[in-house]
Amino acid sequence: MSIELLERLPTPDELKDVVPLDQDLFAKKQERDNLLKAIFDGSSSKFLLVIGPCSAHDESAVCDYVTRLAKLQDEVEDKLVLVPRIYTNKPRTTGAGYKGIAHQADPNGKANIAEGLKAMRHMHIKALRASGLTPADEMLYPANYPYLDDILSYVAVGARSVENQEHRLTVSGLDIPSGMKNPTSGDLSIMMNSVEAAQMAHDFIYNGWRVQTHGNPLAHCILRGAVNQHGRNIPNYHYEDLHQLADLYAARSLSNPAIVVDTNHANSNKLFHEQIRIAHEVLRSRSYQSNLNTMIKGLMIESFIEEGNQKPEGTVYGKSITDPCLGWASSETLVKTIAEMV
Ligand code: PEP
Ligand code: MN
Repeated sequence: MSIELLERLPTPDELKDVVPLDQDLFAKKQERDNLLKAIFDGSSSKFLLVIGPCSAHDESAVCDYVTRLAKLQDEVEDKLVLVPRIYTNKPRTTGAGYKGIAHQADPNGKANIAEGLKAMRHMHIKALRASGLTPADEMLYPANYPYLDDILSYVAVGARSVENQEHRLTVSGLDIPSGMKNPTSGDLSIMMNSVEAAQMAHDFIYNGWRVQTHGNPLAHCILRGAVNQHGRNIPNYHYEDLHQLADLYAARSLSNPAIVVDTNHANSNKLFHEQIRIAHEVLRSRSYQSNLNTMIKGLMIESFIEEGNQKPEGTVYGKSITDPCLGWASSETLVKTIAEMV
């Protein structure tokens, strides 16, 4: 093997000693986990919004953003549960580019994973302290989950990872709602197989241990659109797509059939402003049919302070350095409109 060992990284327990979570915030997580679980098991009719930037590269802007979100949460609390997207591990289509704060605390600096993991945990805790809103992150590297298992209330497995057995088996051991995205090809059976695998109990190798899981009944589907063989975007948020997914659920005996729609990525063709129209359309489809009304549990929206995006070397405060996002003013209006429509 020509892999060079560079340095031993802190274990999750070691990192938690260096960047600890206060007890009151852990209690907050339990309260929020129950709120989210109730959405997915059907005992609450509140609607979920996983909302925030594509990647969380700047602690100050992220804390500013989640503080705004917390104020908005108070205004819509009868209808919506807001979960900030604080994404710290970024998958890259070709492997090149910014890989997230966990990889490089400075987006323009070199990879430094020991520093990156510390910056990741520090930002998550500071944002939670500022907002009281336990966040979502992507499970890109299953081995990294224990670094944040006391903080996250929602996890997504991305389009490029969803067919991977290690991701599926790791999700089977989580106690929080975990969204499995359709793959970039759009093959819905891959997403359904992933949910089925994640809901099952498994015995496997995890971080040097033989482990056993009990299956995660809160694992569910996220529709994020697809790209065909000609590179064209194929959205999958329309009424017919939602219906087709409901039929696929009906053909399997899975727990808590649930759909979350990602309004950006291949659904919007990254035309970030289209997220508003897409959200409205999904809510109309949801109200049109009672089965969809119970099954569509939420939306995933890419939003930050400034709209659009910039290159990783860009210095505009609160602007995404990965996918383009809605700006704050349109995000606030959209959240209030969603609260009226659900
Ligand atoms: C994302 O949520 O920013 C993302 C990379 O999503 P996907 O896996 O759907 O491309
Ligand atoms: Mn994105």
